[in-house]
Amino acid sequence: MRIVLLGAPGSGKGTQAKKLMAERNLPQISTGDMLREAVAAGTRFGEQAKEIMDAGQLVSDDIMLGIISERLSKPDAADGFILDGFPRTEKQALDLEDLLDQLGAPLNAAILMDVDFEVLTKRLTGRRTCSLTGQLLNIYYSTQEELDACTNAGGTLIQRQDDNEETISSRLEVYRGQTEPLIDYYRARSKLKTIDAVGTIDEVYERFTKALA
Ligand code: AMP
Repeated sequence: MRIVLLGAPGSGKGTQAKKLMAERNLPQISTGDMLREAVAAGTRFGEQAKEIMDAGQLVSDDIMLGIISERLSKPDAADGFILDGFPRTEKQALDLEDLLDQLGAPLNAAILMDVDFEVLTKRLTGRRTCSLTGQLLNIYYSTQEELDACTNAGGTLIQRQDDNEETISSRLEVYRGQTEPLIDYYRARSKLKTIDAVGTIDEVYERFTKALA
């Protein structure tokens, strides 16, 4: 199964992709995670990417095409994948279509995670990752037990550098201007499925897997 997850920052793409990856053995390909790895590795490219990400802007389409074509040619993507955070512009969607045409492996669906903009800000400002387990948590929505489980085990709750209010508003603006048009793009190709992405992780996951059935 080859799917694209569409949705604003904070709509829960990563959370749902991770669950599906564990259950169906499909790789979650998150371009944001790949860029954060490059930043952590301290390469020259990573330094340039960091500036763009901290400003809430998008890395150029040409660079993203290079990254994604290399990743999709790896053996673990041969039987399917979940794209999380790519494509983000119409150019990227066209490039992806060409790439998958060449591989003879078209997309099955683009799943839109639908969330109100007010909810997104709270999800993004509250988002934390446990330094020990990598578990995604939220200071507003996770239970106190979940948060304590991380800190009592000696972990810390890390906030992503770009999850501050100023960067969040640029990211949401960029989403509206550049990524939202992809909803019509995939609708016109009869690939679009929309799910209500407000609710508990399990509730949303149930809607998600139903949409894939
Ligand atoms: P994410 O983790 O998906 O929210 O991505 C974090 C940041 O990485 C974004 O705000 C962008 O700066 C950059 N990024 C991730 N994916 C892409 C993409 N497909 N095209 C351009 N920039 C991207």
